Amino acid sequence: MTTGAHANQDASRHVKELYNFECQVCGQTLVTPEGRYSEAVHVRPLGEPHNGPDSEDNLLSLCPNHRVMFDHGTFGIGDDYKLIGIRLYGRLRVNPEHKLNAENLRYHREHILKES
Ligand SMILES: [Zn+2]
Repeated sequence: MTTGAHANQDASRHVKELYNFECQVCGQTLVTPEGRYSEAVHVRPLGEPHNGPDSEDNLLSLCPNHRVMFDHGTFGIGDDYKLIGIRLYGRLRVNPEHKLNAENLRYHREHILKES
């Protein structure tokens, strides 16, 4: 089984399309000559030691800045989607068709989020 960053391109693409390539934190998109751009980010990271699943309920659509901040634990996401550790934005934007796995949000808070 592969656990590379692009192991499940269909899921990544679908999540980004659900948000029209906008960031679920700040709502911005990057417009490029190839079209709108966001990144599909795993809540619980793939591969060792985290072994997160490569599924839509573990994926977010984020802009590159918020992707880096999330991956490094600058902010986390509460069970109510309240953003923790980032002041400008209140809540994660979540499409009703997009079910996020609360276990993975909790994993990120417990293992990746840095207390400040
Ligand atoms: Zn953003």
